[in-house]
Amino acid sequence: MITVFGSINLDLVVAVPRLPTAGETVSGRDHQTFPGGKGANQALAARRAGADVRFIGAVGQDSFAELALLNLREAGVDLSGVRTMAGSTGLALIGIDPAGENQIIVASGTNARVEASWLEGGFGPGQTLLVQGEVPLVEVIEGARLARDAAGTVIWNPAPVPEGDLSDCLDVAGTVVVNVSEAAEIGGRLGIAGDTETFALKLAEGGRNVIVTLGADGVLARTPTARYRFASPAVNAVDTTGAGDAFCGALAAALDRKTSFERALKEGAAAGALACTVTGAQSSAPHLEDIARLAD
Ligand code: ADP
Repeated sequence: MITVFGSINLDLVVAVPRLPTAGETVSGRDHQTFPGGKGANQALAARRAGADVRFIGAVGQDSFAELALLNLREAGVDLSGVRTMAGSTGLALIGIDPAGENQIIVASGTNARVEASWLEGGFGPGQTLLVQGEVPLVEVIEGARLARDAAGTVIWNPAPVPEGDLSDCLDVAGTVVVNVSEAAEIGGRLGIAGDTETFALKLAEGGRNVIVTLGADGVLARTPTARYRFASPAVNAVDTTGAGDAFCGALAAALDRKTSFERALKEGAAAGALACTVTGAQSSAPHLEDIARLAD
């Protein structure tokens, strides 16, 4: 069983002829809505990758809430731990120009008010907690401690990298997953000089598994005792949105069913690659059969 404690948003997307400057109005035509938020994206990705998943988070008392939850509900993610709170559902307002450049305004809404106490009593030994960076770090740390104290496994994807002291969360997380720019940012903040290899090595020396996703180049990982480096399966990439979330969800699903760490990395990379072949974040999350085939 995987518990995802994290963010859920609705993305409102408008294609515009060019991005507006300050004070300017630019008109597009129809808008599109997409369920998003890294917590929800990874919960869906883990579910499609074959895991039993429950999502713990919050939505507002507005008409966006149900739209934001739709894909999770349809996929059979357990939503009994989702709270409806006063305030607004997390919202991302996204403008995209013809070159694909975007401008995004995010209203965190109820994502800023999730509480780790909602996780209390919810963990058994061997269960997995998957957390990201879009909800308050103090709550992530507290939730991670609850999971660890119940003999659960914690996978932390600090994306976006939160403000504040990262060391407490690093101490609790059994596995940390970052992309190259997140690795650089965290490495800088922790005073780790050197390249991605050095970053992974130094963090793994602290007794955790460290995974750095390398985009089309695949994945690099270090455990306290081993090093892994895989190329990503070659695919016809049309949209890399959601690749990292697909990676995290599939990795968590594989680790949760106690596959080897190496196999879990390969399934994560296969899921990330497959997510690049379809546009969108949630719509592109692949299913276990396809992941397993590509990872073999
Ligand atoms: P993020 O989306 O967080 O920036 P990455 O770009 O590193 O993360 O992508 C996550 C994973 O998805 C990679 O480790 C890789 O396995 C896969 N992936 C990403 N981009 C491509 C690509 N162009 N071709 C094949 N696989 C890719």
